Amino acid sequence: MNKVKIATVWLSGCAGCHMSLLDIDETLLDIADRIEFVRSPVVDLKEFPADGMDVTIVEGAVANEEHLEILHEVREKSKLVIALGDCAVTGNIPSMRNNRIPPQELLERVYGKERTVNGTLPTEVVPPLLDRVRPVHEVIPVDIWLHGCPPPAGVIGKAILALLDGKMPELVGRELKFG
Ligand code: SF4
Repeated sequence: MNKVKIATVWLSGCAGCHMSLLDIDETLLDIADRIEFVRSPVVDLKEFPADGMDVTIVEGAVANEEHLEILHEVREKSKLVIALGDCAVTGNIPSMRNNRIPPQELLERVYGKERTVNGTLPTEVVPPLLDRVRPVHEVIPVDIWLHGCPPPAGVIGKAILALLDGKMPELVGRELKFG
């Protein structure tokens, strides 16, 4: 049986959504022989495989130029894209800097003289920040949104199981239904 290839991507988020994904416990065992985690923060493959992905799960908001590049590659190489958690779905906590503090001032506050030994701002390791933090769907089309901060493990497990059975999850009112 061909396994469904799944990637996960971590943008501007706290990793709580990935923790919730790992919390699906027995469901992981149920689906272990049907899926293959090809790329994720817990798998040591950093590049996106050229032959593409069945499903890519995105945690976090879009906060810098590197995130834009990653997301365009994700969309180009994934059949289905899931925005996992409120940071990916709405911008949530990372977007609280929007309209409050310009990116350069933010960097100076974080890396400036009062905070670090040499007070130099990063020029290589930290990608340039976007003026405004955005939810994933403002950058690429998203197929499924899973709300929550983080989404409950049970909901993530149900959604993955439904997809493996060829059903699309749909939000009806506040409940996730699987058609
Ligand atoms: Fe963390 Fe909540 Fe954002 Fe998920 S939605 S990355 S748990 S802050």
